[in-house]
Amino acid sequence: MDEKVYELIIIGGGPAGVTASVYAARKQMDFILITKDIGGQAAWSGDIENYTGYQFVTGPELALKFEEHVRKYNFPIKENEEVVTILKEDGVLRVKTDRGEYISKTLIIASGKRSRELNIPGEKELKNRGVAYCATCDGPLFSGKTVAVVGGGNSALDAALQLVKIAVKVHLINNTPSLGGDKVMQEKLKKAGNVIIYNNSKVENILGEKMVSGIIISRVEERIEIPVQGVFVEIGLIPNSDFAGIIKKNGSNEILVNNSCETNISGIFAAGDVTDVPEKQIIIAAGDGAKATLSAFKFLSRN
Ligand SMILES: Cc1cc2nc3c(=O)[nH]c(=O)nc-3n(C[C@H](O)[C@H](O)[C@H](O)COP(=O)(O)OP(=O)(O)OC[C@H]3O[C@@H](n4cnc5c(N)ncnc54)[C@H](O)[C@@H]3O)c2cc1C
Repeated sequence: MDEKVYELIIIGGGPAGVTASVYAARKQMDFILITKDIGGQAAWSGDIENYTGYQFVTGPELALKFEEHVRKYNFPIKENEEVVTILKEDGVLRVKTDRGEYISKTLIIASGKRSRELNIPGEKELKNRGVAYCATCDGPLFSGKTVAVVGGGNSALDAALQLVKIAVKVHLINNTPSLGGDKVMQEKLKKAGNVIIYNNSKVENILGEKMVSGIIISRVEERIEIPVQGVFVEIGLIPNSDFAGIIKKNGSNEILVNNSCETNISGIFAAGDVTDVPEKQIIIAAGDGAKATLSAFKFLSRN
């Protein structure tokens, strides 16, 4: 256990946590960043065209820029470390991780979101053996193969647009009557010659012994078997807030914050996708990360 009492601990190294760290470093705060990775979901995105200052940048390129920026400052980054619980005891905040325990006066939770799972037969058994959740990270493994993308919103469209350039054929399985997401992305997808869209369709089963060999989908009263080597699950995201049992959340498990990023617990702030802010975007998460640090700084000055 680290007995030192930090001024601030930041949890999460996505756009919100990295920006919070840059602001904390520039305020010369005594702080650490605890994170499973640097970049967060920003690194999963294919093409980013809405982060001001970059007319076009890929997700991995932007994540690398974030990493270069945050590593410029001399403060401890506890990387590949996962927070398992947070507690408030004797007037201080305790952060327990899979490797140790840290104490702080203030805390910023910027732990973002993770992929929702399908919870169907074959998914768990074939995870990382053809079942994937990130087209940017795992797409290149499916070069020249046939794949399925499950979902119909922006994440699914983004994944499908990346995969049409890599795979021979992409089956897009969407359980609503028509695709959601941005019209621009839908148009791009329609222009790609190698996508088959199945609306009103549900994946029932992922098939395969050692590796994925196909999927079974149901559409009204028919069941269809589609041979594929990869299945990309893109059906939305859920907040990484399970470790924050002491914090008030909404029905979707998002942390409730006010417009200063304060939570219901004094000294604990939250920023980015893990919160109930209405829109989930890189620039919004980054802006809220900055705001959270400035709020924590003010809190320390007052207390
Ligand atoms: C496929 C895809 C494409 C997208 N495209 C765009 C786009 O073009 N433009 C745009 O603006 N937005 C886009 N987004 C949304 C954008 O990526 C998110 O809004 C943004 O990354 C949220 O930032 P965040 O820092 O709040 O959370 P995240 O990016 O989710 O980062 C959370 C961080 O917390 C860490 N973490 C989680 N749990 C723990 C724990 N228990 N302990 C320690 N660390 C933990 C994670 O490892 C990660 O580093 C896209 C998202 C996806 C999935």
